[in-house]
Amino acid sequence: MTSRVALVTGGTGGIGTAIVRKLAAMGHKVATNYRDKARATAWQEALRRDGVEVALAAGDVADPAAAEAMVRQVTDQLGPVDILVNNAGITRDGTFHKMTALQWQEVINTNLNSCFNVTRPVIDGMRERKWGRIIQISSINGQKGQYGQANYAASKAGMHGFTISLAQENAKFGITVNTVSPGYVATEMVMAVPEEVRAKIAAQIPVGRLGNPDEIAYAVGFFIPDEAAWVTGANLSINGGHYMGW
Ligand code: NDP
Repeated sequence: MTSRVALVTGGTGGIGTAIVRKLAAMGHKVATNYRDKARATAWQEALRRDGVEVALAAGDVADPAAAEAMVRQVTDQLGPVDILVNNAGITRDGTFHKMTALQWQEVINTNLNSCFNVTRPVIDGMRERKWGRIIQISSINGQKGQYGQANYAASKAGMHGFTISLAQENAKFGITVNTVSPGYVATEMVMAVPEEVRAKIAAQIPVGRLGNPDEIAYAVGFFIPDEAAWVTGANLSINGGHYMGW
């Protein structure tokens, strides 16, 4: 497979790390963003010990100017971005009648507006080079809704609307745009939930367990080869059968 330049946002997190490792194992040159340099450098060193090289670029994906600067740093280090995985995400849960404007805005800015902020600076280059892969990491809760997550579910459902519009606009330019919607995966985000709640969640999953980050990374990898060129505007649910709709 041709070696491409890949930018995975939120690459230092649970799912992001697995995606970074997967893309590097596929032979791509991989970069991610950081906000805390010391923490990111320690993470980079740990991956290096496993033989995985990752470039780092400072950047807050919720901030348009910072995201643009981040893409420039990646381009300077590795070359123009061919593969973009919009993975960075947060939760700020609360029932809507108690939700603050800040909880709403932080989640929408980080999870959804980031898709604009990071994709906008890479799309022209992909169109010029007639090749690109853009993958959004959405969520099962953007598909089925979730008590206490009106902000998160709205941001994640919005990612899919973004995907299917961008897919139409760029199909003739060799660019595919797809969404991966994970169910509950055993990362810090989910392990922060009390154990008894996690046990209840696992009991609702037909496969009978939480997912692991490598299973999400496998799905991301599926969209990248030239053989996947006819897969665009798709949403791939990976949730152990927890939700079987679109
Ligand atoms: P983590 O909390 O482990 O990782 C999140 C990553 O996003 C971190 O690297 C974090 O960096 C980064 N990030 C957060 N905000 C920003 C920002 N403003 N600018 C730049 N980077 C930022 O989460 P997961 O790995 O569990 O989740 C990854 C994605 O998968 C998210 O979009 C999440 O919504 C989605 N998802 C997760 C599920 C799960 O069960 N875990 C289920 C379904 C979807 P920093 O260290 O600087 O905060």
